[in-house]
Amino acid sequence: MTDVRKINPGSGKDRLIRPEVRALRAYEVADATGLIKLDAMENPYSWPPELVSKWQRLLAAAPINRYPDPGASVLRQVLRRRIGLADEFGLLLGNGSDEIIQMLLLALDRDCAVIAPTPTFVMYEMSAKTVGLPYVGVPLGPEFVLDAERLLEAAATVRPGVIFIAYPNNPTGNLFSTKEIERVIRGTDALVVVDEAYFPFAGSTFMDRLQEFENLLVMRTLSKEGLAGLRLGFIAGHRSWIDEIDKVRLPYNINCVTQITVAFALEQSGMLAAQAEQIRASRARLFEGLSAIPGIRAWPSDANFILFRTHGANEVFDGLRRRGVLIKNLAGSGLPGFLRVTVGTDEENRCFLQALRDEMAPA
Ligand SMILES: *Cc1c(COP(=O)(O)O)cnc(C)c1O
Repeated sequence: MTDVRKINPGSGKDRLIRPEVRALRAYEVADATGLIKLDAMENPYSWPPELVSKWQRLLAAAPINRYPDPGASVLRQVLRRRIGLADEFGLLLGNGSDEIIQMLLLALDRDCAVIAPTPTFVMYEMSAKTVGLPYVGVPLGPEFVLDAERLLEAAATVRPGVIFIAYPNNPTGNLFSTKEIERVIRGTDALVVVDEAYFPFAGSTFMDRLQEFENLLVMRTLSKEGLAGLRLGFIAGHRSWIDEIDKVRLPYNINCVTQITVAFALEQSGMLAAQAEQIRASRARLFEGLSAIPGIRAWPSDANFILFRTHGANEVFDGLRRRGVLIKNLAGSGLPGFLRVTVGTDEENRCFLQALRDEMAPA
């Protein structure tokens, strides 16, 4: 009998796992147990008790023994109304926008490159690698401005399939110039995804411009707005594109608890809007507080987090954690020397600023 191990030499994982997957590091989530959690752009506010009771009554009647509606039709209608999406455009829901990024890349032709200005959201690159597509990161200009020319030049050296533009950008927090984004969309026949994860804190959007650009898709998520635990993202665009991406979607990707809860939460859109407004006001105070600390440079933000730079960023990050505050060290995301703090409640922000001042004070 032939020994199959002689035909396929190498250890198990070397034989069976794609090299680009073996080269990846799993997405790391820091343990926040017992810490003030300002690392993941979550909304710090919960719901008033009477709203929680109303929601629990709805959930008690949820048919969890049945598969959910595969097309999440009720929730999709609620979302369409909320964003004012015309019938002619398609709307696809994902288990977080992370899943939408993955679906889109799975649907792309096998030799298409994925392009994004960098630094930006790490999942564009990670998902490109996991599905086996080449990724091209194109550095942003000084002060993190988008340089359309440079992006298009890089796109011309490969076969571009999709260009991701986070608007506002994570981790820099700024909104790119709309003129530059328009130049990118007009200058390529690749799909351009404008990722508006931080729309509630920025207000500026491309959602009302789908008519103008055939290759534009606009993506949003409920995560940063206050429903991160439910995992719901969505993408809108011309039906010809959305219908193709939809074929890659697993049938029941939005579970029934999420469908019911998001539709319910969006009925209370006044509450979510008020929370976003509160976060924007706190952001201004946090920015002032940060900028007043000697040795810190903070960048103005249109999102619910603030990027800042300091000497000894690794030590400052560790010191803050010892003092009970978890933020994000961007050294692992290609931005050594930079830290990112999520806007929390005013009380959390005060604790963070105090811990940072203590940490930065000369010994
Ligand atoms: C957080 C974030 C996402 C991911 O959102 P989910 O819907 O929670 O998967 C997408 N894009 C950007 C730019 C983000 O910062």
